[in-house]
Parts: sequence; structure tokens; C-alpha cells
Amino acid sequence: MKQDYSLSTAPRRLAAWRSVLMAGICAVSLTALLTREGTASRHTATPNEATTAITTTDATTGAAFDTAVQDSVSDTLPIPSSTDWVTVEVKANQTISSIIEGQGMAKDEWLALMALGKSTSRLKKLRSGDKISLRKNSEGELEELSFELDQTHTLQVRRVNDKLEAITLEAELERRIAQAAGTITHSLYVDGAKAGLSKRQISSFVSLFNYDVDFALGLSDGDRFVVIYETLYKENGEKVRDGDIIAASLTSRGRTYRSMRYTRANGTFAYYAPDGQSPRKAFIRTPVDFARISSGFNLARRHPILNIIRAHKGVDYAAATGTPVKATADGKVEFKGIKSGYGNVIVLKHGSKYETVYAHLSRYREGLRQGQPVRQGQVIGYVGSTGLATAPHLHYEFHVNGQYKNPLTVALPRANPLSRSQLAKWRAENALVIAMMDELSPVTASNDKQDTTKSRKAKLSKAANTRG
Ligand SMILES: [Zn+2]
Repeated sequence: MKQDYSLSTAPRRLAAWRSVLMAGICAVSLTALLTREGTASRHTATPNEATTAITTTDATTGAAFDTAVQDSVSDTLPIPSSTDWVTVEVKANQTISSIIEGQGMAKDEWLALMALGKSTSRLKKLRSGDKISLRKNSEGELEELSFELDQTHTLQVRRVNDKLEAITLEAELERRIAQAAGTITHSLYVDGAKAGLSKRQISSFVSLFNYDVDFALGLSDGDRFVVIYETLYKENGEKVRDGDIIAASLTSRGRTYRSMRYTRANGTFAYYAPDGQSPRKAFIRTPVDFARISSGFNLARRHPILNIIRAHKGVDYAAATGTPVKATADGKVEFKGIKSGYGNVIVLKHGSKYETVYAHLSRYREGLRQGQPVRQGQVIGYVGSTGLATAPHLHYEFHVNGQYKNPLTVALPRANPLSRSQLAKWRAENALVIAMMDELSPVTASNDKQDTTKSRKAKLSKAANTRG
């Protein structure tokens, strides 16, 4: 065994240790050895490893000895000891920076957190009562942070390779079906609430049927409503909230209306009657909100400026300059520009049969171009008094197959119905829901209870078969 006393003290100590190991007291861990060299580590080497580390150095110089030790040290370092999670409940006016500093972390830790951008922006607007859980590492840096954004989303920040990374986790929710039904004795709001519906659900219900039923007049005693809706639960069985309406039915003044959710390929949804008809009209009646009709459709009107009898082939809505003008139906911009008496005008084409005209505009919606598609209710321009107009107003026309029709009285078509194949698929997928509606709100009032139960059982088994 070679003992070279010209080596520096550290390797000499190691060499001394080596002889101890070689002497057969093999239970010495590398940890103990390194701790003696002033370095902490959580890694515990087996006697074998320790032997190897030292053996490598056996035939070499002291410098190699040092390198070997440093290598072992850096191999064992990357696991820093961390503190436990601390949960802070935010008090009024407390900010994320004060919370981070309050936990003994450096100020630039919250800057690093904010540098993560949109994902952590909610932390800038902390509210009293919010709860933040955090953990720091042995260097006093932020190691991990967890923040409940809402009932289903949690922000998680973690230090990975010495950089903070943020992800938003979404709890997977279980969807269950619930139902509420009742008969009107007071009002939809009172009786709906009694049946367990929230205000939000009741207003969704109203929006499903307000094309067919005038809710402003109120429902009658004895009218019946049924709502089948989703409820969302967390994995642990805790209810998160009510989801959307799946189907609903309203029997008013002896007529039953039904509406069912149809989910499009892109995930958005609309409601249709079970026969695939949309409850929505293809057109809204009025292109401007809060406007007064200043001149109606009149084929023998004296023109206010020209002072001659000239048909007024549209409706005038008086409104302040700049009032938004909305497309009354989905369509395409057929024309956008100046047409003598009309001033700035937009003509929309809706399918092959219908056209609507919006005249005297002060300006167009920014970016609106000829040929562009527009959606029902989308703002296309603004009220003005360009062209032959005495005061700011919108002149609105409705053409059917090139004929001028009175926009206030023309029969408005329904929005696009479901196609045959869409309808068949949709009804098959919703067989169970349809059976539930048949049970809760039979269309034929003369069905006695027993018959309904029988037919329901039959339909439920049929539905189960369809699903399978
Ligand atoms: Zn007019």
C-alpha cells in the first residue's frame, strides 16, 4: 500500500479513510466521508460504491482524487431538501409579492412567477379568502405553488431545471342527469325554484321557448314544465354545479313544446324540437335595439324630401347617429357602398331567397368586406343620415325573391333545420332523454298513468338497445 505524504491534507485524509475501509470496516458510507469534507448530501452510498470511488483514486495523484470526490458530490446533489407545504389564506389587500416575501423568499421569486404570463395572471388579482399553497426549497426559492382557480381548475407552478413552469389542471367531472318538473300555480320563477331550478336554468328555459310562447304575458295556472339537465360531480362525489339543459318541455294552453340539445362537431350546441326544427327564427325582427319606428312600410307615401308620392318600401327606425345596426339573419355581404338616395348601404344575402337592406349608415363595421359571411345579431354598421335623410335613422328593407315585403309583418322562416341524417343520429343518441320526456310530460294528455309507465318501460328498453 502506497502512502504518499506529499499530498495535500484532504486526499491524505481520504487515503486514511481508504485504509480504514480496506481494513474491513466496510459499513462506512460515502455520506459520512463527504460530510467530513464539508458537503451535505442525502445520498447514501453502499460500501461497494464507496470502495469503488476510492479505488479509482488508488493508483492516481491527489488531483485525480479531488476530481473523483467532486464528481461523486455533484452526482448526489440535485435533490435539494424542501420545506413542507404552507397554505396561506389571503387577507384583504394582500398581494402575491407580500405573501412570497412573507414566506421568507426573495422578491424576484414573484417576478419570476409573473413572468409566466397569462397562466399566473390570476395571482395578480388575489381576493381575500383565496388560498395559496406553497413550498420553498433549501435555497429559499419557490419550489412549488398550487392555487385553486375555481371548482374545477387548479394552477400548479413547479420548479423544473431551475425554472418555474405553470400548468392548469382540470378536474375530470362526472356528468349525471337530473330532472325537475312542475305545474304553474304562481309563476315560472316561483314554481321553477320550487322544483329546484336555479335562476340561470329558468332563464335558459325561457330562451328555449320564447320564440313560441310569449312569456311577457305569463304562463297560465296548470301549464307544465319539465327540465332535464346535466349535473357535474367531482371524482370524490362532491357536486360542482348544474350543467346545461339537455332537454325541456313546456305545455302551455294545451300545446306541448319540446326542445333538445344538439351538439355540433365543433362542440358548440343549439336546441331543436324533436322533429329537428329550430325554435329559432332565421331572422330577428328588428335590426336596431331601442329604436322608434318613424316611418312604416307604405306603398303610397309622400316622400319628406322629394315631396312626391313615392312608395316607402321599408321601415325607418329613428335612432341616434352611431347606434349599432345588426344583421337580422346569418348571411353574406352582397353589397357595401354608396347608392344615391340610400347613402352608405349594406345589402345582405340570406340563402337564395332572402335579402335585407340597411341604409343611411354613418359608417360600416371595421373590416367588413363584400362577400364576407355575417352572423345573426352581429353588428354590421352604425345609424346615420347619409343619402336622402332628414334625420339619423335606419332604413331597413326585406326582400323575398326580389319582392319588397313589410319587415314588420312578413312571415319569418325558421332557422336551418337538422338534416335527415343528423336528425336520425341525434334521436338515436337521445332515445333515453326522449323516453324521459315522454314519461314526465306526455304529449297526449289523455294517456292514463299506467299506459305511460308501460310505454316508458318499452321505450327505456328500446333506448338501452339503441345505446348498446
Ligand atoms: Zn326609409
